[in-house]
Amino acid sequence: MYNPMVCDHCGRELPPGTTKYIVDLILFADFDGYMEDEEDVEGKIRNLLNEVEKMDQKRLEEDVYEEYTLILCRGCRDRLRRKLLANFETKSEMERKETLH
Ligand SMILES: [Zn+2]
Repeated sequence: MYNPMVCDHCGRELPPGTTKYIVDLILFADFDGYMEDEEDVEGKIRNLLNEVEKMDQKRLEEDVYEEYTLILCRGCRDRLRRKLLANFETKSEMERKETLH
């Protein structure tokens, strides 16, 4: 049976030969190494490990690292691109600003 590929956002069918776009999205936690009170590091680590033991394993993994792969039609890709460009400065734009000053 023919199982058509569809856009993950709008659900539009993407028949063979249609231009489609793949979005690979990785969200991961960043830790800069800063700890508020350096005096009781061992106590804080002990408390953190106790909290981790109580947490649901799946939830814990999601808090640290998530990866998505989406398939988009051209229209949804264009809308996503416009939103990203409107809301975030791209790294290349930031680098360009730095070289101008
Ligand atoms: Zn779409």
